[in-house]
Amino acid sequence: MQRQYAELKIEAGKALLLFRLGDFYELFGDDAVEAAPILEVALTSREMTPGARTPMCGVPHHALTTYLTRLLAAGRSVAIADQVEDPAEAQGLVRREIVQIITPGTVTDPELLERLGERPLAAIAPSDDTWGLAIADVSTGRVRVALLDPGDGERQVWDELCRIGPAEVLLEPGRPALADRLKTGGITVAELDRGAFESGLSAAFANTVEMDAGARRALDGLLSYLDRTARTEVQLHRLETYRPSAFMGLDPVAQRNLELTARFDGTSGGGGTLLGVVDRTVTPMGRRQLKTWLLHPLLNVDAIILRQAAVRELVAAPLFREGLRRVLRRVYDLQRLANRVLCERATPRELWVLGLSLRALPEAQRVLSACGAPLLVELSGALDPMEDVAAQLEQALQEDAPAVQGQRGIFRPGFDPELDHLRTASAEGRAWIADLERRERERTGIRSLKVGFNRVFGYYLEISAANLGSVPGDYQRRQTLAGGERFVTPELKELEERILGAEERSLRREWELFVDLRRQLVGRAESLERTADAIATLDTIASLAEVASRGGWVCPVCDDGVDLVIRDGRHPVLEQLLGPGRFVPNDVELQGRARRFLLITGPNMAGKSTYMRQVALITILAQMGSFVPASAAHVGICDRVFTRIGASDDLAGGRSTFMVEMMEVASLLAQATRRSLLLLDEIGRGTGTLDGLSIAWAVSEDVTRRLGARTLFATHYHELTTVVPKLPGACNLHAVVSEEADRVVFLHRVAEGASARSYGVVVAALAGVPQAICDRARELLQHLEEGGGLQAGVAATLERFDRKESRSTESPAVPSAVLEVARRLAAVDPLRLTPIQALDLLFVLHADAQAAVALPPE
Ligand code: ATP
Repeated sequence: MQRQYAELKIEAGKALLLFRLGDFYELFGDDAVEAAPILEVALTSREMTPGARTPMCGVPHHALTTYLTRLLAAGRSVAIADQVEDPAEAQGLVRREIVQIITPGTVTDPELLERLGERPLAAIAPSDDTWGLAIADVSTGRVRVALLDPGDGERQVWDELCRIGPAEVLLEPGRPALADRLKTGGITVAELDRGAFESGLSAAFANTVEMDAGARRALDGLLSYLDRTARTEVQLHRLETYRPSAFMGLDPVAQRNLELTARFDGTSGGGGTLLGVVDRTVTPMGRRQLKTWLLHPLLNVDAIILRQAAVRELVAAPLFREGLRRVLRRVYDLQRLANRVLCERATPRELWVLGLSLRALPEAQRVLSACGAPLLVELSGALDPMEDVAAQLEQALQEDAPAVQGQRGIFRPGFDPELDHLRTASAEGRAWIADLERRERERTGIRSLKVGFNRVFGYYLEISAANLGSVPGDYQRRQTLAGGERFVTPELKELEERILGAEERSLRREWELFVDLRRQLVGRAESLERTADAIATLDTIASLAEVASRGGWVCPVCDDGVDLVIRDGRHPVLEQLLGPGRFVPNDVELQGRARRFLLITGPNMAGKSTYMRQVALITILAQMGSFVPASAAHVGICDRVFTRIGASDDLAGGRSTFMVEMMEVASLLAQATRRSLLLLDEIGRGTGTLDGLSIAWAVSEDVTRRLGARTLFATHYHELTTVVPKLPGACNLHAVVSEEADRVVFLHRVAEGASARSYGVVVAALAGVPQAICDRARELLQHLEEGGGLQAGVAATLERFDRKESRSTESPAVPSAVLEVARRLAAVDPLRLTPIQALDLLFVLHADAQAAVALPPE
């Protein structure tokens, strides 16, 4: 067995080997040490060779899915070695084989997918000129190949990877920096040999598709990996190419800062993200599509308007929208089902739910027949209800047909006469057995006699030890137990043959019929996929309409200009968190060359960040085709959103807060265009005040004079407000607060003009910094402000405080002459002095003390 294990372990490579032993899957050696904590099972050991213990751990086979989920979620690949012959029949050691290798990006099992969520698999082919990126979703059998811009491929790859969130990335060897960066991001990296990226497999798969060399290499790598690891499980069949440059640029920093699909702390799901607000989809396909739209806002105005018209129509007709959503709720994950059909891997249950889904489509078409928006008309036309298939599945399959092979009850009675016949035979057989048991009890007079069944001996008559004396002569003994014996009779054996034969044949017949039915559907998979895609888009549009309608959002005007005007804009996520009526709406006005740089001052907590983020979120919503939370909006297409927000260390990457901040600034200055939207929330905070101010100042000059990008810049450098009037297209805004008796109240309103002063100390007091420290800070601030310039102010302030300190000294240093008097007095032993000596000494000390006190201070 150890040899068998060792051979299979070599075959498994880096994957953890789950080795079937009886009712358990066991892991040994390093695999066990590594997996036990992930599986949360005890690590034990066993003496495999005399004197040497091997670590091991195991999981029960019936709970395999749970444990696989943990390993895959932890980014591990798993090889499953199963017994491939019946232990009852095997001669010697049972043969085992690796029946499946599952890696984090090649999960196809529906239950695992359900638990793990989306699992994209990406292959990257770095290169000096054009990089390549291919992304597969093996659960739907689709591949997307990115056509990257020469010279900009690396950046685009990172942006795309962040949008996609791959479970696993394939790389060629010798790219340690790239691999480390991916691993730091929590992504499983599989290094393939170089040959994989030149496998040529893409030629057969996509010979008619135009791709550059980088894209082809990535696709080669992807296909070759799947070919090696998951050949029988995965079939890719649909290829799409796309240009990331056709969508709004959203780099990882912007995606994270704006909390588009995950919160800042990296968690997703639940509230707190833009996706959480706009996702009212009712199908899994719609959910995926909506996320894709959100992370890929469009640049093409016509395409945006097409989506808007569809959303508008559904907003305007709530009943119609609800009708559509009600029908869509009945549709299962058709994209995955289509793939299962195409790969001939669908289970009876899956075909049953396919039938249910198809039966919802005619109603969807009926609902949609009333609509006029071109996109809705087109989508309705793309739906193929396949009424023949739906009817066939309905007639053939039993309700809730089994989800696994080998279970009876796939087909309805009447579907196949032969099957019906076999079923009757096996059902009758059970009655025959009951009858035989009754007759044998009567014949032998043994009331406890019973007929049992097990897989080794088949049917038997069991007689307890006390009754063995009454066993008739025609009983043949088969097995002796502790409390009795088991027998068979020729009649029982004959019955057994008829029953088991009928049962086995009925199961076999059912499966053959099913496989046949499944095969007939393969040719329809393509049409199914088109239908599934149309459903996904319908669901996405209906979701956007639902959100718009419930939130009172409006349809923005989008054009190719560079204006960005928002009336009564709201931050969609915060508005939802705060609840109705609590969010204070604000206007934004960025217009042409005259007004494109807004410097926002005001206290902390006054709402500056919220204001800036809401501008970006509204822009993204507008360009994905959605309505926006405002009373009116005009969005000139924005090519990229850049954010420089807050402080974050990249300790794993060995970069300090300030370094990260400056890298973000450098990157946006290098890449932004006049069409970009820049959000700068504090620049230069991580360094000395004057350094920081100077950097912020210089960046403002560059952005306004050279870039001309639409920019919102929040700062606590109050000094910058005086610079703004001298910069082209720049204006001062401030977050309004009302002051009542040394208390500030945040109004969360942003108004024209600069903030009157800074409020750091007030906010510090609000936050609970002790009163004494706040008072002292206020005092220092006043001195610094009066000092004229920071450096000069600090010097003057220090000087003033020093003088004050020396005046108020409570324990001044003792002058040396006084010390001398004290020293002499201390040296005297009063008990040894005569009265005359004492009087003499008193005179001398008195004179010295007088002299010492009269001296000027040292
Ligand atoms: P800092 O300078 O410290 O970054 P800030 O001025 O950027 O502060 P925000 O973080 O935008 O302030 O807002 C602070 C809090 O104020 C938010 O968490 C939110 O609860 C509330 N807030 C901000 N804007 C609004 C608004 N328009 N309506 C209602 N509440 C708001």
